[in-house]
Amino acid sequence: MSLDSFIDIRTMMVMLGVGGIVLGLVILLYQHENHRNPALYAWLWAQLCKGLAIFIVGLRGWIHYDLSVHLGNTLLYLGFALEVMAYFHYAFGRWSRHFLPGFLLFSLVVINLAAALTPQEGPRGHLTVMGSLFMGSFTAISAWVLFRSRPKKSALLWLLIVAQSMAVVIFAFRCLGAWVNPEHAALTSSLTNQLAYLFYYALMLVNGFSFILLVKEDTDAAMRRMAITDSLTGLANRRYFLQASERQLARKAGGCLMMLDVDFFKKVNDRYGHAVGDKTLQVVAHILQEHLNKNQILARMGGEEFAAFLPGENLPAAEKQAWNICRDLAATPICLDEINLKVTISIGLTCFDADLPLDAALTRADDALYLAKRQGRNQVQIYSEPTSIPVGG
Ligand code: GH3
Ligand code: MG
Ligand code: MG
Repeated sequence: MSLDSFIDIRTMMVMLGVGGIVLGLVILLYQHENHRNPALYAWLWAQLCKGLAIFIVGLRGWIHYDLSVHLGNTLLYLGFALEVMAYFHYAFGRWSRHFLPGFLLFSLVVINLAAALTPQEGPRGHLTVMGSLFMGSFTAISAWVLFRSRPKKSALLWLLIVAQSMAVVIFAFRCLGAWVNPEHAALTSSLTNQLAYLFYYALMLVNGFSFILLVKEDTDAAMRRMAITDSLTGLANRRYFLQASERQLARKAGGCLMMLDVDFFKKVNDRYGHAVGDKTLQVVAHILQEHLNKNQILARMGGEEFAAFLPGENLPAAEKQAWNICRDLAATPICLDEINLKVTISIGLTCFDADLPLDAALTRADDALYLAKRQGRNQVQIYSEPTSIPVGG
């Protein structure tokens, strides 16, 4: 068997076409039932266009020649441009407005004009050269856009970037092959053509799985963030606080724990309304954030109650930090629309070794907070062991 007949190009094209269309339809079904992701939406239309285009080109000889050439090429380039659009939206969260549509228009005019001016039976190598150049360019832009999409790249993203870059190399080879052999035509079983289509088939599979999973990676990460974030203040929530503090304690590092509760917060709600109450909580969260460094874990535990774990911190430093929070908050006017108010916060503080369970430490900080409330609020109280009174003493 000669290498020239290893892969039948026309069969390959039909398979590629059907593959692309099926891929597009499956995602169309998925998008229809689920939240629409613009990047995935553009991407599925790209697959449909490319699939249909390759199918149409593959049917050359059975359908009208002009239809096959012009409709096929137009759909193909539209598909490539839509795919770059999809990657662009994935990367930057918006559509590319000027460059891509311009480049698409230019490539469509050039290739359709060149095809119209080329006699059906004459040498067609130059069309393959042009086509490979354009498709290679679209693919190179895809690779570049994907490369710029995330500073921290997952293995999947790298896979997609490498696959796109390899496709650029294949297009370059195909371009070169057609350049040295002007008799070359898109449907011949030349070695470069065979390699190009074989690789293209692999690329369709890699692209298909990778991009869908890549988009899912983002949604998964957003879900994970949501599960550990308090939606009102943007701080971590109770779940994250407990998990992250346990992780710290597992490293055998003790530290200090603060429970913080806004004073008379019910009055803020009663006097100014719930919306102002909400905004006040956001301002308080912001001030707390400014007082803690990135190694310290701050969370909204619920309502107007916050907690902070300061790993490895000693009592004098933690107490100073807590007092700074108290004073700073009490001195900060909270201006919301026409309303100008001030709130104070009470803090219960405890320092403990890693061998004390977290919930016990939380109870201690709570006890200290309760004391701070009883002693008049707007202050810091440190937990101290209850002194046992000797029986009969
Ligand atoms: P204390 O100084 O003893 O802590 O008094 P307090 O009024 O702050 O405490 P209390 O527990 O009596 O009231 C807390 C109030 O916080 C009651 C509740 O309506 C309000 N609250 C809880 N969560 C939210 C919220 O997300 N938004 C708003 N606006 N209010 C909230
Ligand atoms: Mg309160
Ligand atoms: Mg409370």
